[in-house]
Amino acid sequence: MRERLFIGGRWVTPSGAGAIDVVDPATERVCGRVPDGDLRDVDAAVAAAVVAFDDWAATPAQSRAAALAGLAEALREREDELARVISTEMGAPWDNALHVQTRLPVEIVESYVDLAAACDQVERIGHSQVWREPVGVVAAITPWNYPLYQIVIKLAPALAAGCTVVLKPSEDAPLNAFLLAEAVEAAGLPPGVVNLVTGSAAGRSLAAHPGVDMVSFTGSTRVGALVAAAAAGSIKRVALELGGKSAAVVLPDADLDAAVRHTVGNVCYNTGQTCTALTRLLVPADRYADALSTAAAAAASYELGDPREPGEHLGPIATARQYATVRGYLDLGVAEGASVVAGGPAPAAEHRPAGFDAGWWVRPTIFGEVTSDMRIAQEEIFGPVLCLMSYRDEDEAVRIANGTPYGLAGAVWSASPEHALAVARRLHTGRVDINGAAFNPLAPTGGVKKSGYGRELGHHGLAEYQELKAIQL
Ligand code: NAD
Repeated sequence: MRERLFIGGRWVTPSGAGAIDVVDPATERVCGRVPDGDLRDVDAAVAAAVVAFDDWAATPAQSRAAALAGLAEALREREDELARVISTEMGAPWDNALHVQTRLPVEIVESYVDLAAACDQVERIGHSQVWREPVGVVAAITPWNYPLYQIVIKLAPALAAGCTVVLKPSEDAPLNAFLLAEAVEAAGLPPGVVNLVTGSAAGRSLAAHPGVDMVSFTGSTRVGALVAAAAAGSIKRVALELGGKSAAVVLPDADLDAAVRHTVGNVCYNTGQTCTALTRLLVPADRYADALSTAAAAAASYELGDPREPGEHLGPIATARQYATVRGYLDLGVAEGASVVAGGPAPAAEHRPAGFDAGWWVRPTIFGEVTSDMRIAQEEIFGPVLCLMSYRDEDEAVRIANGTPYGLAGAVWSASPEHALAVARRLHTGRVDINGAAFNPLAPTGGVKKSGYGRELGHHGLAEYQELKAIQL
């Protein structure tokens, strides 16, 4: 149970009297409670970040780099605890919780140590010096699906740049953020450089707050639009990482078996709650039947199971609200005329793994005969649901891939890397993986169209938190 907020380097009793329950999605039992901070708490956190800003911005880049190294170390010391908390509050099975939900974020903090150290470098253009200066006070508003990762990909570059931060994590998975704040304290970061506020209306207050210079938001497209509108009044810088409906395009010469298996695995990972998930699989019409049977077999190979256990199994959907959304799309797919190749809208009890009589479980579902005009092919489902679609020629494949309001990620499969690259260049997205290439935590990630704007990770992610100043001599 958490009763205090981290503001100005101290754990303070919130002004808001309410509390928010955190629920374990595998059991539906309350597993924690955090303060429902109100506007006064947001004001206090922003004021602390404003006070801390000048000194932090003026701290030599090497010292900020050392502070980030200390933060990474403090997080690493508590990685088991972090993984356990994340597993309980959002349902990630132990291997995912430890490696992807915890160690990857620590590595990302480490990746900003060297980048922070380089922040004092000056560019010369003719008789000008171009300095990179911190944007100011940053509000980081984050979702629940990879909760610690989503926090650190904002926090680490913001701190590296010399910004101070007010963090507002998701109410659905906020407990890891309290451990992070303790790590900030243990690492000895100056008071006010990182502040933590939880609260159901805190995000809205931060987006509109006159003391905040930038909002970096990750979450749904609907809320992203509200954040941008709220930020407009004070001309804040805004970065939006929003939803996706990414397509994997399998070209005729590709290894179909590998492509289908990889895509099913990708859409099942984290129980489908990944913004960049490849949720539409586009295969040539004459290979559709083969793709269907491979996809069915691949989906059937995934087990659901206890998040506390190690292994490759899938956990539950993280929240009751998201569960209702996913279930709604399972019904909708059938109503729209898609065929159910695997999973589908069976009663809740049939989705649950053995040993569980509660929880928000959804077995992997593959919809076949999906066409672009269906809502299941257009809207983000955010669950382990794959739409299998066929195309006649490459132009049609590209048209289908680009034919949604989103543009976050994509994939291309081909025996010819040059051909795959040419198709990748035609996809309107922020990122494309060819032939199952691995995630690169130093390469920029982010979207176009309704997937948002701005980039995170690596030096491009750092630049989001910097203003350029030209000084003519
Ligand atoms: P959400 O939009 O409901 O909430 C995101 C955050 O915004 C939470 O912290 C929430 O408390 C806060 N919030 C809610 N209303 C707000 C308001 N009016 N003003 C300011 N803040 C407000 O999203 P979610 O359900 O937590 O996360 C799932 C969504 O996030 C999915 O749509 C997914 O695609 C998206 N997502 C995107 C990326 C990406 O990098 N593009 C990554 C992960 C998740």
